[in-house]
Amino acid sequence: MKILVINAGSSSLKYQLIDMDKKTVMAKGLCERIGIDGSRLKHTPAGKDAVIIESPMPTHADAITLVIDALVSPDHGVIASMDEIGAVGHRVVHGGESFSESVVIDEKVKEGIKECIDLAPLHNPANLIGIEACEKVMPGVPQVAVFDTAFHQTMPSKAYLYGLPYEYYQKYKVRRYGFHGTSHKYVAQRAADMLGKPLEELKIITCHLGNGSSVAAIDHGKVVDTSMGLTPLAGVIMGTRCGDIDPAIVTFVMEKEGLDPKAMDNVMNKKSGVLGISGISSDFRDLLAASAEGNERARAALDMFFYTVKKFVGSYAAVMDGVDAIVFTAGVGENNAPCRAAVTSTLGYMGVAIDPVLNEQSRGDERDISAPGAKVRTLVIPTDEEMMIALDTQRLTM
Ligand code: AMP
Repeated sequence: MKILVINAGSSSLKYQLIDMDKKTVMAKGLCERIGIDGSRLKHTPAGKDAVIIESPMPTHADAITLVIDALVSPDHGVIASMDEIGAVGHRVVHGGESFSESVVIDEKVKEGIKECIDLAPLHNPANLIGIEACEKVMPGVPQVAVFDTAFHQTMPSKAYLYGLPYEYYQKYKVRRYGFHGTSHKYVAQRAADMLGKPLEELKIITCHLGNGSSVAAIDHGKVVDTSMGLTPLAGVIMGTRCGDIDPAIVTFVMEKEGLDPKAMDNVMNKKSGVLGISGISSDFRDLLAASAEGNERARAALDMFFYTVKKFVGSYAAVMDGVDAIVFTAGVGENNAPCRAAVTSTLGYMGVAIDPVLNEQSRGDERDISAPGAKVRTLVIPTDEEMMIALDTQRLTM
């Protein structure tokens, strides 16, 4: 079975065609500038150079048509006809409280995604457009929605409620949802496979550390807490996002700087985090380089990042009454050895110990970097959200 995985943004659309029998990516690509002048498709068949196709894409349906054309093209295609695509899996950012797992898309599901637009105004409309474009271009092909929030829906109310008047939860659905759920779910399952135990018998802390970062506590297969909240702004300090701050700072700074809500939101999402602290970059490679050259603010930004991740790891071990494995994933988690060393450095009392040599070896594959005999296993697992979406899509459509 071949599954097309779609991640639609407001003016872009990423895709991967996955062969589920071989568990390999046959082709992947990106449509950019949909609905704007200068739109183009970058299509990369597996093992070959990327092809750039410049063509107008007034709508997402035009983009999907171009993707299908590229996939079946005699020159750079990877399948003979569209009929080979057995199902389509869509990444949907917010499923609110309506969706606690992936679902086959029908009219009711689309209504549910629409109802969550308030909670993800930039993402859910684009995801819906992607779904409707696929329905138009590939009628009759089953489609599945996989939600970033779904895996976290198992959190108990003591973890997801905020200390605000309860009516805000009732009226506006203000609560913790958590994000990166597809990634946390994928790496937790892979960790269980690596440890040779069922996920349902393990306590795992997954650290998805990239430009956006979140940490999750997964107790016997169920998320019991996670660091992101109503929005992906909460939790650890990130590339450009502030993470958790004293909520009173928001009105304080708005008054001092004369900012309206939109401008303050922009500061917290785009100008804060390690970029705001360092004044140099949101990219962790730049910060490591600047810090190595003695830049104090780059050092401070990195230290804050490592420290806040460590605080979540410690508190989640407390919440779960112990931990069997800590998993590092995403751009920073997979590649940044100093980050893993710093986060795990004072957790020896919990049974965490990493092997410094194994930690430094960055091979881009799954690896156990624990020191021999460590009670808690520390694992590096490259995330693969597309494969997780494809696996759920296959499970629900076969
Ligand atoms: P992501 O959002 O998962 O794509 O992660 C992006 C972040 O990963 C960026 O801040 C990069 O600096 C960081 N990153 C990627 N590769 C490396 C590397 N080799 N060493 C340190 N950081 C890296």
